[in-house]
Amino acid sequence: MNIIESFKLDGRVALVTGAGKGIGEGIALGLAEAGADVALVARTRTDLERVAERIREGGRRALVVPGDVADVAAFPSLVRQVEEGLGPIDVLVNCAGIQRRMTVLEATVEGWEQVINTNLRSVYFLCQAVGKGMVARGRGGKVVNIASMTSYRGFHTVSPYGISKAGVANFTKVLALEWAPHNIQVNAIAPGWIATPMTAQMGADRIRWVNQHVPQGKFGTPRDVAGLAVFLASPAADYLTGQTIPVDGGFLAGNPWPPIPAQP
Ligand code: NAD
Repeated sequence: MNIIESFKLDGRVALVTGAGKGIGEGIALGLAEAGADVALVARTRTDLERVAERIREGGRRALVVPGDVADVAAFPSLVRQVEEGLGPIDVLVNCAGIQRRMTVLEATVEGWEQVINTNLRSVYFLCQAVGKGMVARGRGGKVVNIASMTSYRGFHTVSPYGISKAGVANFTKVLALEWAPHNIQVNAIAPGWIATPMTAQMGADRIRWVNQHVPQGKFGTPRDVAGLAVFLASPAADYLTGQTIPVDGGFLAGNPWPPIPAQP
């Protein structure tokens, strides 16, 4: 296959969670631009309809499936709905996630469970629900999980979030091993600070800190993450599995010194 052809997703069906905003929206649009038909899952129908409209304008099929990823019991019917609407799922992107700030002393069981259930339990059981069909069909597939820099490092006041994302990175390795014989590649992306509704909550001090400590001196965009997602979903990544790859403007490479001015 021509190398550029191997990055294309024509004829593939992708399911993206958290597709209504931010990184998930960017990934859904990127996969569609690369040729995939995309099922969009998040809680807010109006967000999903907006993304679906853009995908259809680009000539691909889009299916809106409102749902809460914390509701794991609904996953078998969610997968059925997607496969009846678009066909067998070739690519699963687990992007839905939330962040809640709490010190360990402040944490409650409810707060802990909300983060773990949304960010980690959902990933595990949606992989299981989609994987049953993917494995049975025997024609391979791709899973792309969204991890975080907290998969690698401890960050102040986000312990349940960090635990969930470290879990996503570990689960990515285990699933890659279990599904390697089925030609299903399982990888994760660890975004750095990306400009989305999630990071729009950050105060001016934190924003300044990020711009001074990220070697590229700025936040990334959902589009910056989408490029890697398209690659990982494509035949170009057929021999790449079990990895969590940062897209972080160089943050995990080390601290720049002296702090550099923000890039335009
Ligand atoms: P966001 O808040 O902007 O968007 C999150 C999306 O997930 C929304 O569409 C939301 O509706 C959906 N979602 C949240 N909870 C859900 C639930 N229970 N069921 C279904 N959908 C749900 O967030 P974002 O910044 O785009 O983050 C997306 C993913 O990337 C998350 O997993 C997040 O942890 C991760 N991430 C983000 C950053 C960043 O800097 N923005 C950095 C590292 C990792």
